[in-house]
Amino acid sequence: MAFDTLKIIAHGITWFIPYIVRAGLQSLYALYHFYTYKPTDSPKHIVVIGGSFAGLQLVKRLTQTIPSGYKIIWIEKNSHLNYVFAFPRFSVVAGLEKRAFIPYTALEAGAPKGSLRRVQGTVSWINKEEQKVILDGGEEIPFEYLAIATGSTQPLPVQVESTERTEACDELRAVQTHIKTSQKIAILGGGAVGVELASDIKDFHPDKDVSLVHSREALLNRFGPRLQQYALSALRDELGVRVLLGERPVRPTAYGKGSLARDATLVYRDGKEEIFDLVIGCTGQRPNSHILAMSSPHSICKKTSRILVSPTLQMLTSDTSAIWNPDIDLHPDLPPPTLNSSDRIFALGDVAAHPGPLMARAGFMQAETVVQNIISCINGKPTKRIYKPNWFIEGAIKLTLGKKHNVVYTRAGSEGGSEAMIVSRKGKEDLDIGTAWRQYGVSGEFGGVKGGKPDY
Ligand SMILES: Cc1cc2nc3c(=O)[nH]c(=O)nc-3n(C[C@H](O)[C@H](O)[C@H](O)COP(=O)(O)OP(=O)(O)OC[C@H]3O[C@@H](n4cnc5c(N)ncnc54)[C@H](O)[C@@H]3O)c2cc1C
Repeated sequence: MAFDTLKIIAHGITWFIPYIVRAGLQSLYALYHFYTYKPTDSPKHIVVIGGSFAGLQLVKRLTQTIPSGYKIIWIEKNSHLNYVFAFPRFSVVAGLEKRAFIPYTALEAGAPKGSLRRVQGTVSWINKEEQKVILDGGEEIPFEYLAIATGSTQPLPVQVESTERTEACDELRAVQTHIKTSQKIAILGGGAVGVELASDIKDFHPDKDVSLVHSREALLNRFGPRLQQYALSALRDELGVRVLLGERPVRPTAYGKGSLARDATLVYRDGKEEIFDLVIGCTGQRPNSHILAMSSPHSICKKTSRILVSPTLQMLTSDTSAIWNPDIDLHPDLPPPTLNSSDRIFALGDVAAHPGPLMARAGFMQAETVVQNIISCINGKPTKRIYKPNWFIEGAIKLTLGKKHNVVYTRAGSEGGSEAMIVSRKGKEDLDIGTAWRQYGVSGEFGGVKGGKPDY
């Protein structure tokens, strides 16, 4: 483990030092930009759809860089940032749920006057040819440039349906009640959410019978063998969770919201049936690319339903396998291309068919690619910034395995490469969520001690 710590520190330093220098320079420029940006009467719109990890970072960086004459229109259906990392824990432990919804106030307050409009609404479709975004209520918002960071959808408890914090908290409380009032519980899906949920239920309620049912022969198939084996042993040997691998029972019909079913029967491959008080489905991630289905169906990957993008994260209108050559020659000396409507559309984060990990940090890094390329387009230059995934940094996960037990795990590549893992037994019950609040600039309400009590 000491070697793993060294490996993570060594990788971290080589990534972190240039990152910190860049961030320092960006902050200085942001200060200058704050005082020099001038709002205009009819600005051109840079529209960003999505206000989670990818969209939020993109909007933040755009507020620090766009020239006068442009304005960011930021469309997000939720009232608050849904901090989904905490949902499994806050679906089990009562009283913390409000902390999983972080206000957007700091970002809005920090933007130069007139540079940003936040719209709480849902985009129903994108009219690519007319360069318009159409909201559920019918409002049409024209764009000069568009960035899609709509991620993916999964049912409760991975995500909530409500767009307002109060109702979203009620959804998490309902899951807590279902868990509390059930003795025999099955979790379907041994990805990160299933593993975290199963281990939390068993650790916080040791008297319950908890089964984790997974279709493959190893848990956590998006990660490497060290984490897979470690998590399996922690669940089975330490906590006493029953883990069934290679089983894909039909998901029972959900009860109410999300993917929870009461008094449900699972049928296994050998035909045997088992009744549970509660079955919670943690599978079925669906990329939110449907908003392009009408005007640009060929931009949606048939296999993954993600939005096809080039290495500059500009939307493609057909699938070409050669496109992700990271050493692609961008011919920087050629004259700037004439932008067609697809070149004006960017996609990033979990909704985009990029070769990086489907993780928040990857979306965060991609935001810079999009910012730099939008600025190039505005300046009439070719888009040159390419997204090259750094799996070791972007693919890192902090996986909880019960109340205090957690592991930070990463590896060098998507299909393998050197792995590193650090185990801790000192995790906090609220997952130290105050750090996330402070990271998003909110200190008054919960993230810090300013002004006394938080409002939950
Ligand atoms: C339990 C758990 C633990 C995780 N742990 C880690 C970790 O340790 N490290 C890590 O890097 N990643 C982790 N992840 C993965 C990470 O959460 C995702 O990769 C990340 O959320 C993707 O961010 P995104 O911004 O691309 O999309 P999303 O987070 O899916 O957000 C998309 C946003 O777009 C909005 N939206 C969607 N459609 C519309 C529309 N039509 N109109 C308006 N708004 C819309 C949604 O409301 C949402 O706010 C974890 C995930 C889970 C569930």
